[in-house]
Amino acid sequence: MEKKIPAVNPATGEETAHVKAADDKQIKDAFKKSKKSLENWKDLSVGQRCKYLKRFRENVLEDLEDIVSTIKEDTGKSDIEILMSDILATLEITKYYEENAPDILKKEKRKTPFEFRKNYSYVEYEPYGTVSVISPWNYPFQLSVVPAITALIGGNTVVLKPSEITPLTGEKIKELFEKSGFPEGVFQVLQGTGEVGEKMIEEKPDKVFFTGGVETGKKVMEKASKQLIPVELELGGNDPFIVFKDADIDRAVKGLVYGALANSGQLCVSSERVYVERDVKKEFMEKLEKELEKVRVGGNSTYEMGPIIREKQIEKIKEHVEEAVLEGAEMLTDFERNGNFLKPVLLDKVDHDMNVMREETFGPVIPVTSFKGIEEAVGLANDTEYGLNASVWSEDIEKAEKVASKLETGNCYINDVVKNIGNPHLPFGGVKKSGIGRYHGPEGLKSFVQPKSVMVSGNTIDEINWFPYDKKLCKSIAKLIKTKYGKKGFLKKIKNYFSLRKEMLGRD
Ligand code: NDP
Repeated sequence: MEKKIPAVNPATGEETAHVKAADDKQIKDAFKKSKKSLENWKDLSVGQRCKYLKRFRENVLEDLEDIVSTIKEDTGKSDIEILMSDILATLEITKYYEENAPDILKKEKRKTPFEFRKNYSYVEYEPYGTVSVISPWNYPFQLSVVPAITALIGGNTVVLKPSEITPLTGEKIKELFEKSGFPEGVFQVLQGTGEVGEKMIEEKPDKVFFTGGVETGKKVMEKASKQLIPVELELGGNDPFIVFKDADIDRAVKGLVYGALANSGQLCVSSERVYVERDVKKEFMEKLEKELEKVRVGGNSTYEMGPIIREKQIEKIKEHVEEAVLEGAEMLTDFERNGNFLKPVLLDKVDHDMNVMREETFGPVIPVTSFKGIEEAVGLANDTEYGLNASVWSEDIEKAEKVASKLETGNCYINDVVKNIGNPHLPFGGVKKSGIGRYHGPEGLKSFVQPKSVMVSGNTIDEINWFPYDKKLCKSIAKLIKTKYGKKGFLKKIKNYFSLRKEMLGRD
């Protein structure tokens, strides 16, 4: 029987449409097509592939209003959030790769040790093959399109599974790629639940790029390991927000309100734990309470916070808040629910045994505690299994940079939050449980290709390491090693080396 994926608007709870879920045959066919289309796609130059990308970018602009309303129907978030985080961030990285990918992926000449006489060496980059991209619901456009286009520029073909929670965005992405004229089979979308995601690994793609929660990430890695398929995992975070007493407190407060509440906290790089230096904590909390009063939740016109996208998430947020209060936290603003909309919750007097500090809450909850000095701040920030992003606030940039160096994190923003993920020049990814691998930037493009090393010999005579072995050769090689790595000066080494070469070449 045909399986349907309902599209539910989280702002109203209404089912507005449905899409067809891929069945087993469609999944198999998609991978067959993907593998077939790889042959021609990988043979195009990077520049030729970028032309398709340009068309895609132009089509995003042409369909901007429709994309915004589709994402809104799936997620309920505010238009500004969609424009900034889903669309601008995607276009930024698309343009960056259009302009830089040919250079990042060009054949690179490498040095050759001088005993490899008349040789030269280079590295060229090859695609993995077919890549399965599995994406989450919180930024359904950016987190699907960015890995997909990066894989495509690298010469891979892509099969994407959007989250079942945001199927309309998945359909819109499919339409945009079709409209951009990508050759058949190069980019495909399979709609469905996690089961479809599992099957997309069983079909033996050449790489899996997964964005989602830690527990699902483990399952993906386990399944992929059975076939030795390389995985890249972009997982959850529990990001610290650290405010030193010499910070611009007004700016830090506003930064936190954005960092913790953007997309209602359903953001992998959300500010999840707040550490304020003791001397300024009182001032910080007073200003924070005032600033929180200004945040508008839901509504039909302009608002900052949209709904929580799924019920399961609301339960987890509530549980984290209730547990913290039972364990001694003070709730400065109440937990209030209206349909799927939650008001921000401000918690004081939290400690590191509480789940609200240890786990990713993924909601509009701001737990605050205090510290004294750099050492304690760094100790608290690093006392976590996650390591995605961090935010450090101080007017003393030298000190803030030192702190950033000590933090166990993949990414860090000094005196701001979140939007460092939108700088296309920087690699992005997590350490510890927050993930494996990087995307964005030159490193991110290179994670979708494999380096192939090539050496070319221009010698016409026998090589020194070739058979036959004899005592004379053994002595010569020992002398070569001592000369090359010994303490003699450079000129002496060169002289010795040439006399040795002569000696060895005389062997035939
Ligand atoms: P999930 O892990 O629940 O799902 C992610 C994707 O995996 C979805 O498409 C899901 O399908 C699919 N999936 C579920 N089970 C399996 C399986 N067994 N095998 C293969 N695929 C499967 O994450 P969420 O969608 O709930 O996203 C929220 C999480 O993502 C948070 O932890 C957040 O921090 C993290 N995240 C990380 C980011 C990063 O860059 N590091 C960025 C954004 C989010 P379906 O939805 O249909 O069930």
